[in-house]
Amino acid sequence: MTAITVSQTNIVCGSCGVPHSMPTQQYETIQREGGFWTCPNGHSRGWAIGTDAKKLAECEQEKQDMQDHIDELHVIQERVEGADLVKQSAIVGLRNTIKKLRLANKKLRTRLKAE
Ligand SMILES: [Zn+2]
Repeated sequence: MTAITVSQTNIVCGSCGVPHSMPTQQYETIQREGGFWTCPNGHSRGWAIGTDAKKLAECEQEKQDMQDHIDELHVIQERVEGADLVKQSAIVGLRNTIKKLRLANKKLRTRLKAE
């Protein structure tokens, strides 16, 4: 005859304080996936949300936080690009003004030479 060893987890009921136990594998599965058992006096014990669901929710929150940061960076990028467009427009305006001044200067020199 082969002996089967089953690991047990000892638990004290949080409602009535009665100690009891259950197979560790069952306890860990309930903890991980969420679920309940009853103590010998019938009190429901366990977790409404298992650790797997909590980890998934945390990952979803981190993913959302990262997306929020990416969205903020896109807003900043658009502002910087907008500022660059304003700067480039000012540069084009200055170049046009310089061209007009050079042209006026050239006309003035030509007129002075003629006189
Ligand atoms: Zn109990």
